[in-house]
Amino acid sequence: MTDLMQAVSRLKAVLGEKLQEKMPLAGFTTAQIGGPAAGLVIADSVASLEEAVSACWQLDIPCKVLGNASNVLISDRGFEGVIVINRAKSIRFNLNAEPVTVLAASGSNLGGLARQAGIQGLSGLEWAATVPGTVGGAVYGNAGAHGSDIQANLEMAEILHPISGKEKWTCGQFEYAYRSSVLKRTRSQAVILTALFRLTQSTKEEVMARMDTFNTRRRATQPPGASMGSMFKNPAGDFAGRLIEAAGLKGQRIGGAEISSMHANFMVNHENATASDVYRLIRLAQQKVKEQSGIKLELEIELLGEWDEI
Ligand SMILES: Cc1cc2nc3c(=O)[nH]c(=O)nc-3n(C[C@H](O)[C@H](O)[C@H](O)COP(=O)(O)OP(=O)(O)OC[C@H]3O[C@@H](n4cnc5c(N)ncnc54)[C@H](O)[C@@H]3O)c2cc1C
Repeated sequence: MTDLMQAVSRLKAVLGEKLQEKMPLAGFTTAQIGGPAAGLVIADSVASLEEAVSACWQLDIPCKVLGNASNVLISDRGFEGVIVINRAKSIRFNLNAEPVTVLAASGSNLGGLARQAGIQGLSGLEWAATVPGTVGGAVYGNAGAHGSDIQANLEMAEILHPISGKEKWTCGQFEYAYRSSVLKRTRSQAVILTALFRLTQSTKEEVMARMDTFNTRRRATQPPGASMGSMFKNPAGDFAGRLIEAAGLKGQRIGGAEISSMHANFMVNHENATASDVYRLIRLAQQKVKEQSGIKLELEIELLGEWDEI
């Protein structure tokens, strides 16, 4: 028995049936790609999220929290550790606060949160209505769209750190940059438990109309199907999709994966694509764009697990 398997069976003694062993991850991802995790826990509350990650930390087991896995590519070999799927979904509006706030558990769906705000005529998260991730993933990566992003509305978040325990972080402490935070840059183990957002009073009609406009724009420009959204960050003053298209790669396929012919910064899983198919497309796009324009495309998504360098 490997050290990891021994540690996972010790974890089983702590978490019992909540821990599933050798679980395929593809079905938990928006791209429908990824090998197995040594262990998997589905956390349906903030308390069970805390319990699962704390137990992993105590037993020194590599552990990764995922929300909708809409911004990660998981290796075909899977993840040598425990994946905690965050489904902690409570949402509480404080309509008496000035400004109005909403406190969301980190496993809440970001788009659902935006729509709940919209129904109450609360503005600020319209851009997020079609982002298919969780609040935790969005706070971690400074998700954004249509000229706004998480840092525009985040008041504070509660995080759980393996050494310092629970802390309340202001927005400034995340040191946000474009699709990035200090947690993402340092690959921190800290887990976001809840997030508090500021909203402004508007009307349901106005907020919903803005969401509809954004949704229509998205449907017209982005491909349907299984994907991870934008693969690369836009380099300063340019667009990753334009650069990939200019390098002649629109519609390029490797195995079951395709650089979308609708939007070249999307890679779509057409026919049972493997992570390796997508990884090879990533490297191809980086190489061709570098040759063509001298620009090194930086990944927006994260790679999880082990990869064979190409
Ligand atoms: C069709 C499509 C469209 C998209 N459009 C957009 C867009 O417009 N704008 C945009 O910014 N993104 C977009 N994305 C990407 C993605 O939806 C966002 O980045 C989203 O915020 C990721 O959330 P998630 O829950 O899926 O994170 P995951 O993919 O599950 O995780 C991403 C990273 O966040 C970390 N993480 C997740 N939850 C926590 C937590 N509670 N605590 C600590 N770390 C955590 C993970 O460990 C991982 O490192 C799109 C994706 C798809 C598939």
